[in-house]
Amino acid sequence: MSDTTTEETATGDDGDEPTPVAPPRVTVPVTIDGRAHEAEPGQWVIDACQDAGAYVPHFCYHPRMSPVGMCRQCLVEVEGPRGPMMVVSCMTPVSDGQVIRTATDGVKRAQEGVLELLLANHPLDCPVCDKGGECPLQDQAFSHGPGESRFVEEKRHYDKPIPISELVLLDRERCILCDRCTRFADEVAGDPLISFTQRGNATQVMTFPDEPFASYFSGNTVQICPVGALTATPYRFKARPWDLEETESTCTTCSVGCRTVVQSSRDEVVRVQGVDSDPVNWGWLCDRGRFSFESAGSDVRALAPLVRGADGLSPVSWSQASAAAARLIRDAIDESGPGSVAVLGGARGTNEDAFVWSRLAAALGTDLVDAQLGDGLPASIFAEPQATIDQAAAARTIIVLGPDLKEELPVLYLRLRDAAEKRRSRIIEFSPRATGLSGVTWTQVPTMPGTQAETVRDTLARHEIAEQLASGDVVIVAGRSNLAEAAEHTMAAVTAIRELVPQARVLPVLRRGNVRGAVQAGMVGSQNGPAPVLERAGAGGVSCLILLGADPIADVPDADLARRALAGARRVIAIDTHLTASSSIADVVLPAAGPHERSGTTTNLEGRVSPVAQRVTPRGTARADWMIAVEIAERLGIDLEMSTIEDLRAQMAAQLGAFGNAVVEVANGRGATDGVLGATAPVERTDAAVLHAPGRNAYDFRLVVSRTLYDRAVGTVTSPHLEPLARSAALHVHSRDLERLGVRDGDSVNVVGARTSVVLPVVADDGVMRGCVWSPFNQTGADIRLLIDLTASVTDVRVETL
Ligand code: SF4
Ligand code: SF4
Repeated sequence: MSDTTTEETATGDDGDEPTPVAPPRVTVPVTIDGRAHEAEPGQWVIDACQDAGAYVPHFCYHPRMSPVGMCRQCLVEVEGPRGPMMVVSCMTPVSDGQVIRTATDGVKRAQEGVLELLLANHPLDCPVCDKGGECPLQDQAFSHGPGESRFVEEKRHYDKPIPISELVLLDRERCILCDRCTRFADEVAGDPLISFTQRGNATQVMTFPDEPFASYFSGNTVQICPVGALTATPYRFKARPWDLEETESTCTTCSVGCRTVVQSSRDEVVRVQGVDSDPVNWGWLCDRGRFSFESAGSDVRALAPLVRGADGLSPVSWSQASAAAARLIRDAIDESGPGSVAVLGGARGTNEDAFVWSRLAAALGTDLVDAQLGDGLPASIFAEPQATIDQAAAARTIIVLGPDLKEELPVLYLRLRDAAEKRRSRIIEFSPRATGLSGVTWTQVPTMPGTQAETVRDTLARHEIAEQLASGDVVIVAGRSNLAEAAEHTMAAVTAIRELVPQARVLPVLRRGNVRGAVQAGMVGSQNGPAPVLERAGAGGVSCLILLGADPIADVPDADLARRALAGARRVIAIDTHLTASSSIADVVLPAAGPHERSGTTTNLEGRVSPVAQRVTPRGTARADWMIAVEIAERLGIDLEMSTIEDLRAQMAAQLGAFGNAVVEVANGRGATDGVLGATAPVERTDAAVLHAPGRNAYDFRLVVSRTLYDRAVGTVTSPHLEPLARSAALHVHSRDLERLGVRDGDSVNVVGARTSVVLPVVADDGVMRGCVWSPFNQTGADIRLLIDLTASVTDVRVETL
């Protein structure tokens, strides 16, 4: 090996103490096609060739998965002690002085032979196959194939296509048995629901009997399948690659901020694919992020401005609607003063949208603003030392105080699962129920809601845990594991860990798309928290409630409070992409441009600013949120001095420091794929309120409510292929607690809370901690949120037989 010193030795300013220098970078000298090349130690030959500009054809090899050498297409020649030897380059590591040849006659003959065999049974559906035009098998048959085949026998035939899930179709005869889909499902997603069956010539890829390929990540297998064996139901026969126009963007369905490429045909988005951003998503997407683009064409899309008259909401022109909205705001201020105007939401839009709305709120003179809907954490979580996704996935210890990451932030789940599976990190998870991560955690600590801080203190005092924490970096993944419990319990647990492990950093996992950007752009008032805003509205103290892409009736965990707030607000203006439960009862509805219809920047959960791109024309007459704010401001006689997006970004840079500068840099093209990190706007540190959970009566259960990936959220129910995937409302109870109650799985029970009761079917679930019951949030059926009080420390319920 050769040592390449990348930095000179330096001495300190005073000349006494040597300044530490980076260790020398070690590389492996090899020769590729006659040219000297320095390879990374441990690198596979195929990667070294790629780095040296020598393309090696391949099918099964994927840089984000372990190599298997299944397809044998990547054969190259390596000089050995007995002369040149043909090796599988995806499974051969580089070695000192290795001589590699990728284009000799022997290599060419071997690659042609492999392709001839791969094509022996391939059906040549190319004219009707979705993959045609972007198919590695098609491309490599042209570039590295023999030109003609010696096989004249009848090809293998199977029924086709077989739906293996709601989202994926399988054409087995196109499969080349590369093991990419099966490896992804098992190794990356941890859902080994697709596998090889049969033997020899009859080997085929298949799901297990009666078990669909119900993985949250199934779309990735379609994307990485090197042929058209796996196709996506929403895209099948929709377009051909040469019809597509595409733009790179960022998914804002949740706050992981996965990098995507958005593809359209005839001004309609038809496909979203993952792009490999090394610090964020590694090329993967979850199915909700991948397929929710279909919601843009929904029947309940807000296409034109609406104003309420005697006959309900009626379409009007934009100038009439914005004049009506301005009039409502002016009347509200005249009636009750500027402090009676409230703005809720902002996490659905861009950083730019949130900034303009926060400036409009400030100009109006109100601080009743909040981007969160009672399902997040106080903004002071950003005052803790922050960790990135990479830092979390490289930490020796990851402490999870958050939600079920597989359900709420799926690609972050993949990153942390990888960290645990590859033995880089040990995960300690505090949760009242088993989660997607439970199978890979080092320690799973059942945590009764309301006792997070004391459970954390007790656990961290254990000798083996203290030893583990002392062994390296510690990152706390902090979010809401339970929407029926006050956020302060999570905050108190974070404080408890930081007192015991002061070097621990925090990765806040707030779920909503751009919630961090919206908070940093100013969508957080001094009356911190949506509960005071909603309580005030419910008590008649809000004379104009502006909903900025917010649907409190569906999204606020306390359904009663949300309804009272909407009913109590004297005027409601909704800026929204769809007619939701909340926007459909507004006085004025202003249609907003949705994802892929407007450009700007977004901020992910770790504070990374990245671009979102416009790919298609907004539906109907929808407009970007920031334009709507500017127009309303003008009608109110307020000059925000932002007639162009450049003006507003200049103001962001001037007023928001590093965060504003990052927005400008990203808008100017910096960080095209990975975004720009390190842009946290200063946030005031506030001590977490000390909340005491009342003791639980032995007959009561402590209620746990959390989200699942598919629910009644507007982006899901308005996407035809995602809508059937939501589950029904139910109450999950440990089987021994069910025995105690004398209730069987499937029975219906009356769940009685302090306010009211709801009837739900019971599911026996030993993943739920004894003494707790769990119900998924916002599903079809009885509404569990009727039992949640947003101002209560915890929620206890009684379970009664009917
Ligand atoms: Fe490979 Fe596609 Fe076959 Fe899966 S279905 S083994 S990804 S060719
Ligand atoms: Fe989109 Fe979140 Fe899924 Fe990534 S994890 S694809 S950001 S919804």
